[in-house]
Amino acid sequence: MNYPVIQLHKGKEVALKRLHPWVFSGAIKILPQNINDGDIVKVVDANNNFLAIAYYATGSIALRVLSFTEQEINVDFWKNKLKKAWEYRKHLQIMNSKTNVFRLFFGEGDGASGLIIDYYDGHAVFQCHSYGIYLQRKLIAAALIELLNDKIKSIYDKSNETLPKQFADKCKNEFLFGSITDKVIVKENNHFFNIDFINGQKTGFFIDQRENRQLLQDYCKNKMVLNTFCYTGGFSIYAAKTATEVHSVDVSAKAIKLCDENAELNTITNNKSFSVDTFEFLKNKENLYDVIVLDPPAFAKNRNSKHNAVIGYKRLNTIALKLIKPNGILFTFSCSGVVDKNLFYNTIVSAAIEAKRNVKLLHYLSQPPDHPVTPNFPEGEYLKGIVLFVE
Ligand code: SAH
Repeated sequence: MNYPVIQLHKGKEVALKRLHPWVFSGAIKILPQNINDGDIVKVVDANNNFLAIAYYATGSIALRVLSFTEQEINVDFWKNKLKKAWEYRKHLQIMNSKTNVFRLFFGEGDGASGLIIDYYDGHAVFQCHSYGIYLQRKLIAAALIELLNDKIKSIYDKSNETLPKQFADKCKNEFLFGSITDKVIVKENNHFFNIDFINGQKTGFFIDQRENRQLLQDYCKNKMVLNTFCYTGGFSIYAAKTATEVHSVDVSAKAIKLCDENAELNTITNNKSFSVDTFEFLKNKENLYDVIVLDPPAFAKNRNSKHNAVIGYKRLNTIALKLIKPNGILFTFSCSGVVDKNLFYNTIVSAAIEAKRNVKLLHYLSQPPDHPVTPNFPEGEYLKGIVLFVE
């Protein structure tokens, strides 16, 4: 194994010793010459003791660990990583007779920073969030095929939109294996969804809301439901099964088209879709809804936009809380990593105060186990949800 060696300053090995998978650029003492973005390197402490195998990136997070033991990064390495992730999900029976869509690999939570793989009934969609992982994509694809063979119908790499800007241009989205000839229709808790992973947002579907959608269904019996930021109708389809009527709102006309298709696919006739901005839709609305879902895109993509994000969440939630019917239920979410649980909770509380509504806290929600959070990487917890009873 002949990887270039990167030495850290004395004391800067502490985070790695605690198995945190990142090293910031300021921790590096000796950087070999001619090192390039994405190169696999060996990381050692100030006394040359082995710490980790990682990949290098220019920027503030300079190293992302792939292994805390000294080993070569080859097909077998990836096969072991993927096997562990697959076995974990098998153990939890995430894929079962009712569900064939799940996140197969979740970055640091599964032990490889920057790698996302979603599984749509045999179609795997990769999103690489760093160039180092992107350079590994063919090895990862080969490992996945070896591991799952007949369970893999195609592998599509959709990293163009998730890679840092300077790499995006040279990295076109493409099939790494197989292709699709027909619509991809998946099953989530026995609800059917048409997945357009090539043109859709992210990898095609927001798999992380699976358990929260199921919970919503229980609250919708004979209710008027509003699902804002509905995308392709994940929450709407579940809600419509028990609700009197569901209104689905998304600014994207493409998403609304798929939402309507998904309603049809599930023989749902009590959903009405609106392709319009949520804030516009909510303007001057009468108190029509018993249940409201707010699942906006991340208002904060980084620390600098945290303050504005909080203002955005407060504004949105205040509007919804003002117009929800008495004894209503609010499902409200934030997927901004930098807005933590406490901050989100406090923001929702202050929205309730501003809306002059008394609320009771019914549930704290998060991401499901196929988006694992580990103690060494608490940053992996990004999805927060709060369910309120609104008096
Ligand atoms: N709840 C969805 C995922 C939401 S993703 C699900 O379960 O699948 C966020 C969605 O918000 C995207 O579809 C995006 O098109 C939409 N969006 C972004 N800004 C919006 C706005 N101002 N008004 C309405 N929709 C918006």
